[in-house]
Amino acid sequence: MQALTTADVSRLFHQLADTIGAARDELCRLDGVIGDADHGIAMEQGFAAASRAIDALPEQATLADQLNAAAKGFLNAVGASSGPLYATALMRAAKVAGARPEMPLAEAPMLIVAMAEGIRSRGKAEAGEKTMVDVWTPAAAAIEQGMASGLPVCEIMARTRDAAAAGAESTKSMVATKGRSSRLGERSLGHMDPGAASAAMVLDVIANDWGRHDTPQAS
Ligand code: ADP
Ligand code: MG
Repeated sequence: MQALTTADVSRLFHQLADTIGAARDELCRLDGVIGDADHGIAMEQGFAAASRAIDALPEQATLADQLNAAAKGFLNAVGASSGPLYATALMRAAKVAGARPEMPLAEAPMLIVAMAEGIRSRGKAEAGEKTMVDVWTPAAAAIEQGMASGLPVCEIMARTRDAAAAGAESTKSMVATKGRSSRLGERSLGHMDPGAASAAMVLDVIANDWGRHDTPQAS
């Protein structure tokens, strides 16, 4: 049985911190067009703090401990709107992961579904309002469909990645009605939402990691 272990989660957060850190300037640029240009810094600091919080845990920490520590680290590091949104997402994932040292990889996509629900309930944004919800919601839908059809994790995660990328792209033709960029109204048209762009990056990292685990030659 392929499993997602605490070592896997720790490694995954290192990858998230690296990838989002490398995208900092691009995310700030996107936020500079329709927001206040800090989204790259917020996400870089959030994932770096989340990863450090996981590393600081004792050896016997569970998956839930890791994701709760990541949530707390993210929230404390980020003053922007993305702070409470990702903190809630990670706390919801912690509930699903539970107080165990590993979970079956086949159940891991449910962590993403829980994160999407957390972001929706915290931010109260609907699909089509030009936010990160326009990435997390179609990604979660792809997972639910894939799981209901009994697809392997690598296939589910490939579809999730595609749905997330398409969701981020779709925000270009939306007018912002939630968050800071809603002040721009029609002028937000034509630009990708920064929170949607970073969400697609986060999901791409997770999809690559879990998809790779699921291949027969993976150890
Ligand atoms: P701030 O707007 O406080 O500077 P960030 O720049 O870190 O925060 O994040 C901006 C992103 O947060 C937006 O691009 C959007 O995707 C997301 N966002 C803002 N408000 C909401 C909300 N209510 N629900 C979901 N996502 C939101
Ligand atoms: Mg901002």
